[in-house]
Amino acid sequence: MMNSISQFPSYTDFNRSSQISYPNKYVAKIWMKEIYTKKNNISWEKYVKGFFISYYRGLSHELGHSLGLAHSNKYHGTNKCFKAMMSQSGKSPRNYIQPSEIGKMHKALMTSNLIQFVSEDANFNVPMIISENENWDFKTLRFYQDIIVKEGKILILNGTVIFPPNASITLEKNATLVLNKATLKTANKKPFTNIIKRKHATIIQY
Ligand SMILES: [Zn+2]
Repeated sequence: MMNSISQFPSYTDFNRSSQISYPNKYVAKIWMKEIYTKKNNISWEKYVKGFFISYYRGLSHELGHSLGLAHSNKYHGTNKCFKAMMSQSGKSPRNYIQPSEIGKMHKALMTSNLIQFVSEDANFNVPMIISENENWDFKTLRFYQDIIVKEGKILILNGTVIFPPNASITLEKNATLVLNKATLKTANKKPFTNIIKRKHATIIQY
């Protein structure tokens, strides 16, 4: 009944699937709820349901692996944070995710095979603000938000860069967008052209 397993994201094969094996949980639940508890006159609500809630928490843990999380992170070693979603303890409430881990999941959704599983129009509706010079050096990179390059700052994009269909890049005054052999397209496979240039903003293309 145990032994769940999931695949980490792939950063090299963008066509690879992402799978979780979480066997027999549904069958076990039905059997416990509909057959075992009735046969033995045990209250499902009182004594058995809680056990299955830990199963559902286990599924969120496996989804964490699918999104690139490990059992340890920069804040704690393996199983050292009892409440963490990535704790392996069946007794853990698994209701806590560190900010660093949220960041890792976002990064995986931008830079791995996971990009193929997000709907085309996915958009945070909160822009990414580029307030330092940035070089986003990935072969394939998918954004889920607008980008605003602040005054005088430089953003370098490389490779294939994918945007939500309704997204925009705004280059503020004197900002520079460098497209280093970069192809900009939308998640629905159209060319991405929605770049707004303020005064003296430049686009440099190699
Ligand atoms: Zn695990």
